[in-house]
Amino acid sequence: MASFSLSNSRPFRLVLDENGCHSFGGPAQHSGVVPSGTNVAIQQVISLDLTDPLIPIKSDALASKLPLYYPFKYGFGGPDIQYEVRSDLEIDILHLSDPEPDDKESLYLQVEELPSARLRLEPLTYEQARILGFRRTNGYFQPNDEDREILSQLDVKHLIELGGRHDYIVNAPDVICRNPKCQSYERRVYFDVIAMVPPIPVNNDDEFWYEFQGGDVTFCFGLCHYCGTIIAFNVAT
Ligand SMILES: [Zn+2]
Repeated sequence: MASFSLSNSRPFRLVLDENGCHSFGGPAQHSGVVPSGTNVAIQQVISLDLTDPLIPIKSDALASKLPLYYPFKYGFGGPDIQYEVRSDLEIDILHLSDPEPDDKESLYLQVEELPSARLRLEPLTYEQARILGFRRTNGYFQPNDEDREILSQLDVKHLIELGGRHDYIVNAPDVICRNPKCQSYERRVYFDVIAMVPPIPVNNDDEFWYEFQGGDVTFCFGLCHYCGTIIAFNVAT
C-alpha cells in the first residue's frame, strides 16, 4: 500500500482555478470505492496531485495522487471512514462506521458524483493563518476591522484549508485507527490534517450538496500519524 505523511506543517488553502493541478469532485479514479456487500459507491471529494512542488504531503513511490473520498450516502450525513491507497488505481476501505447505505428517501446526497472542478494550492500568509488560528482558539475577542477584511478575502465559509498544524479540531470525535496492520490499531491516534472541506459552490451552484447545502459542516480528511492511511469524518462548524 501507499503510505502518506506531511512533509511540513505550512498551512495552505485550495482555491478554484481552471488551471490548477488538483481536482474537486468528478468520477472516482480508483477501484474499491463500493463498500463490500453494497452497491452504493463513496464519492471523490478531492484528488491531490503530489507532483505539485508546493504540496506539503509526500508518499512513497506507489502513489502520485492522494485521493480524498467520503461516504456521503452512508450514516445519515455523519459517517466516518478509513481507507488505504494501494496505488493510483485502487483503494481498500478498512472501516466504515455505517456499513449499510441509507435508504433512498433519506440520502443526504442525490448525485452520483460531485461536479468536477480544478483547484490550485495557495500558501496562507502569516496574517491569514494568524486570524484563522486566533478565531478558532479564542472565543472572547472579536475580529477587528483589519481581521474581518482578511476573513472576507478568504471567503471563510467556503475556505478549503490544506495542511497546517491542528492540535485539535472543534467538535471532532476521538480519532481511532482501524487499520489492523497499524502499531496503534484500535487506539486513539494523532490525526495529521490533510484537508478541511466545507460544502463549497462549484460554478456558482451548491444545490448538488442537497442536505448539506449551506450547512455548517466541514468534511475533515487526514492521516493516522502512525500508518499513513486516510481517515475522514465530518464536524459541525
Ligand atoms: Zn494507523
